[in-house]
Amino acid sequence: MPVTPEVAASGEWGPRRKMLLWLAPALLSQYVLDVLAVGPGLPALVLRVVWALCVALSALRMDEHSASSMRLHTTFQCVAGSLCFIGLVLVAGGSDGAYFHLFPCLPLILCLIYPQDTLPVMLSGALCSAGAGGMLWMAGRPMSQVLLWVGIVVTVTLVGAYGASEFRKAQRAENEGRLERARREALESLAISERRRAHSEKLATIGQLAASVMHEINNPVAFIGANLDYLEREVLAEPRRASREELAEVFRETRTGVERVRQIIGDLRGFSRMDTEEPTECAVADVVSDAVRIARLRLQHVARLEVDIPEDLPPVLAVRRRLAQVLLNLLVNAGDALEARGREGSEVRIIGVCEGARVVLRVEDNGPGFPPHVLPRLFETFFTTKGPEKGTGLGLALSRELVEQCGGSLVAENREEGGARLRLEFPVGGSVKVAS
Ligand code: ADP
Repeated sequence: MPVTPEVAASGEWGPRRKMLLWLAPALLSQYVLDVLAVGPGLPALVLRVVWALCVALSALRMDEHSASSMRLHTTFQCVAGSLCFIGLVLVAGGSDGAYFHLFPCLPLILCLIYPQDTLPVMLSGALCSAGAGGMLWMAGRPMSQVLLWVGIVVTVTLVGAYGASEFRKAQRAENEGRLERARREALESLAISERRRAHSEKLATIGQLAASVMHEINNPVAFIGANLDYLEREVLAEPRRASREELAEVFRETRTGVERVRQIIGDLRGFSRMDTEEPTECAVADVVSDAVRIARLRLQHVARLEVDIPEDLPPVLAVRRRLAQVLLNLLVNAGDALEARGREGSEVRIIGVCEGARVVLRVEDNGPGFPPHVLPRLFETFFTTKGPEKGTGLGLALSRELVEQCGGSLVAENREEGGARLRLEFPVGGSVKVAS
């Protein structure tokens, strides 16, 4: 069931029906007092029965989940109760009777029974003060006495209503405190389970990565081992069988294997200690210039580099060194893609824009773009089209992992006008307010 303000407001009323169903027989049993005050009599008994029935039937009909139903029935019970009480005062002898002095008490008692609403109590106060004043006036008492009693009933009603409103405020504050505590506890447990999820995802990623690294390094290590065995045999053999050229070739091959392993380790080292650094607010222009400074060495003979980062671009939540590493990867990839084309007309651009609560960085080039069979595999670890001497296939996979750790995303697409586009999205830094 959706929680409407009406239903939510009814929470302040609490379970009242049970209490009112107990109140009805209690009212009826007070007929004993009437007997003591005026002796047995039908009018008092009828008034007691009517009062008890009004309370009981109204209690049975009220909907405890609806604030408006509770308000309606409370008003009915207070008004009916006040009228029955005025009747009882009259039956018991009017202004000279035993019950007359109880006029100021009724609104006060109603404040205790129904502290949730002021209007019914005020209505009861108005009826009681009119009843008290009217009886004194009809008995021919001086106007000063009439006004005195009206004043007493009105004052007592107002004091009672004030007390009830303070009670309501305290109750509301307690409810809000309880809700706030529950909300904080829910958020804390959500954060704990989120941390656990991130941790297990990280372990899964590390596991996958370790498996791929093992597979990838195994191959060169296997032929390095085989080559070393061969070299040992040939160098120690008497007389020597292999020619100098053959031995030089095996050395070259072995060095290529070592170089491949070194390359993979180098790429991994660039991304190591991922979890030791917490993301902080980074000025995008600074991060971009960190990456551009190094990338220029690679790009200067290959393409023209253009940077378009607006001055008012909000900072992003990221690890500065890691984000610069990611950008450097993307720029180097763009350089590799443009290499065959020649510097003339080749362009690489970094563009920063703010889209709502996200900062978007686009790294674009006008190279060949991603072939259709390459696009779905770009972020696979060790997927490369560059050949073993140039690429490890780790750059994009690790870049995406790193960006996602900071709550961002990295996607690749082909530009309509030709060339590749890598799109990075980051949440705007925490202390920055974003105009919506
Ligand atoms: P590596 O650069 O070692 O090959 P990456 O994960 O960085 O590994 O890149 C994977 C592949 O994505 C590259 O081999 C290349 O085929 C493709 N690629 C990446 N960037 C671009 C680009 N700007 N234009 C065309 N292809 C690209």
